[in-house]
Amino acid sequence: MMAKRKIEGHGKFGSRYGKKIRERALKVEKKAKKLYKCPNCSRVAVKRLSNGVWQCQKCGKKFASGAFEFKVD
Ligand SMILES: [Zn+2]
Repeated sequence: MMAKRKIEGHGKFGSRYGKKIRERALKVEKKAKKLYKCPNCSRVAVKRLSNGVWQCQKCGKKFASGAFEFKVD
C-alpha cells in the first residue's frame, strides 16, 4: 500500500512538471518564429537565423539578440 501511494504521488508531480515544460516550449517556439520590427528600417521583417542571430528580410541587417526572442535596447 505504502509503496503504491509513493508511485502515484511521483506520477502526478511528473505529469504536471511535463505540462509546464511543454507550455513553455510552445511559447518559446512562437516567439522564435515570429517576425520582429527592425530597428534599422522600422519594418516588421526581422527573422531568426539561428540562436542569437537575427536578420531583417528587408534591409538585410543582422542583429545579435536573444536566442529565441528578438530584443533591442
Ligand atoms: Zn530592416
